[in-house]
Amino acid sequence: MRARRIRCPSCRWEPGASARWSCLPACGTVWNTFATGGLCPGCGARWHRTQCLACAVVSAHRDWYVDPDGGAAGATGRERAAAAH
Ligand SMILES: [Zn+2]
Ligand SMILES: [Zn+2]
Repeated sequence: MRARRIRCPSCRWEPGASARWSCLPACGTVWNTFATGGLCPGCGARWHRTQCLACAVVSAHRDWYVDPDGGAAGATGRERAAAAH
């Protein structure tokens, strides 16, 4: 199994195991949303957006996951301008 890193798309804060979100205004359950993939264990609601506890920016839940192979595609630093001369 590959461990995916999780971090805020906005400020790169990485939520630890002790981070908690609340299912509001629905059922009020408090849990770690990344432990369930955004699924509330109280009412079964799926949260497609997750608010950062550090910077308060709301981002798509899937955007928090970082592929370990990864990085940004094509960010190798080789940028050749294809300008005609
Ligand atoms: Zn953030
Ligand atoms: Zn809920």
